Amino acid sequence: MSSRAPDAVSGGPLEQDRDERVGTGGAAPPRGSRRSRHSRSSLSMIRLFDLSPDLLGAASPDGYFTLLNAAWQRVLGWTLDELMARPFLAFVHPDDVEETTAEISKLAAHGGVAHYGFENRYRTRTGDYRRIEWTIVPDIDTAYFVAKDVSDKRAAEAQRDRAAQMMRTVIESVADGLWVTDARGRLILMNHAGIRLLGYDSPDEVLGRNPHTVFHHRHEDGTPYPIDQCPLADVGPTGRRVHVGEDTFWRRDGVPVPVSYSSAPIATAEGAGSVVAFHDITLVQTERARLRAQVAEAEWFDEIRQAMIENRLELFEQPIVDLSSGRTYKHELLLRLRSRQGAVVEPRLFLPAAEKYGLIEEIDRWVITQAITLAASGRRVAFNVSAESIGKAGILMHIEDELARTGAEPGLLTLEVTETAVMDDLEEGKRFADRLVSLGCSFALDDFGTGYGSLTYLRQLPITYVKIDAQFVQGLTTDPSDRALVEAIVHIAQSLGKRTIAEGVEDEPTLRLLRDLGVELAQGYHLGRPAPSS
Ligand code: C2E
Ligand code: CA
Ligand code: CA
Repeated sequence: MSSRAPDAVSGGPLEQDRDERVGTGGAAPPRGSRRSRHSRSSLSMIRLFDLSPDLLGAASPDGYFTLLNAAWQRVLGWTLDELMARPFLAFVHPDDVEETTAEISKLAAHGGVAHYGFENRYRTRTGDYRRIEWTIVPDIDTAYFVAKDVSDKRAAEAQRDRAAQMMRTVIESVADGLWVTDARGRLILMNHAGIRLLGYDSPDEVLGRNPHTVFHHRHEDGTPYPIDQCPLADVGPTGRRVHVGEDTFWRRDGVPVPVSYSSAPIATAEGAGSVVAFHDITLVQTERARLRAQVAEAEWFDEIRQAMIENRLELFEQPIVDLSSGRTYKHELLLRLRSRQGAVVEPRLFLPAAEKYGLIEEIDRWVITQAITLAASGRRVAFNVSAESIGKAGILMHIEDELARTGAEPGLLTLEVTETAVMDDLEEGKRFADRLVSLGCSFALDDFGTGYGSLTYLRQLPITYVKIDAQFVQGLTTDPSDRALVEAIVHIAQSLGKRTIAEGVEDEPTLRLLRDLGVELAQGYHLGRPAPSS
């Protein structure tokens, strides 16, 4: 069976020897005569053969096509005679000749086995090249083949690859997290910045899933975030862009990340998807909070100064009760600021600003004057002095002056200093405390157990009272380790001759247990809240 130009099918002489057929081209040597007889059915076969859109044919071991269907002419523009007149390698792109030769020798080695998928480029009559993909069945002395012109397919693939590669380059080069979802809202792409921000190792862990259910399923406070309320879900379907300045994504390890994001619709293979760019705003938020705090402090600075001028600082009193008698032994004076509207402001709100902006020493002096005035009227009081004032000669002198001026009995006064305050400079703290004690005042170590050097201070400072911090007292009846700690503190204090005061007593069982553990004095809401002095 053989064929030639398409007109051969429409009734031309089918039985011609090769010499005659190539005669018009004239260039090829005779390839030996191959004669066949054709029945009616083989005539239909030839028709079929020429109608096939695939490139069909056969080749001889010496490197010539011996049989080609009409599709060849349609694809390459050469007549079949022209194609058969020269070794087929003559039509192969020079860069593909070596590989083609290698494939042919492989074929010889694999005799009889169909061979798929090899591609090379064939020159057309107009001088450009078509990419041909081969399926070859070697037979004795002949290789039959079905080939396809895959030029357009490959060009489209290359175009797609280039577009995808460009998209990937763009997506990977942005510092922000970026993802793309398909028309059904599933992730089809996530860049490495995004993967890193969300705490994953590889995009494979999230691809194919809905981003909302993976890392946007809860609000900042941990409550569920239903997907039908998610602004991102609408972007693809409605084509509307979205920008959210502050929201929360959840990392794989369960840690929330504050983020801002923008989303726009994007065309994907099966419809409108969306592209989302997101940004970790932790630093922005921290910075914002810092600025807010700074503004608040500056406002407090002004408010404290005004309050001092307008006499709006007050001292509340809280009873400290003797556990053996149940009677109030003395009061701790606790600072309050009265706003212009009459509201009571607690020290945790304004003392940090006072310390930061250098107003604390003046406040401490004021407190000292009030405390010593109360002592002069026969009241037993404890008052707090800030870390900044410890060791200041001015403060010591102020105490001495006030004692002299009012004639107050120093034994009625206890100065409370936190561990962290003496920690700054132990030598200085010790000189300060020694001087106070020599004046006749008492010294209490506040918030005992919260610092690092509790025991050192206990040994080196002339302390009368140890105030057991509220955090150990509040868990006393429920937490065995708090109980063990309080027991140990009481034991150590007693053996060093110090008196103990428990802070933050809020209920009767705690009070009873403290008494049983040998604590001498107690203070807390259960015994009396801080209140304005009567
Ligand atoms: P602090 O000296 O340890 O005072 C005890 C704090 O515990 C007080 O808070 C008091 O109101 C609170 N408290 C008392 N009983 C209970 C209780 O049963 N439960 C709980 N949860 N809390 C209780 P406050 O008055 O807000 O004072 C806070 C801190 O401010 C004081 O801690 C002290 O370090 C400082 N401070 C207070 N007044 C002054 C002052 O006049 N001068 C200086 N420099 N600092 C002061
Ligand atoms: Ca105190
Ligand atoms: Ca305390």
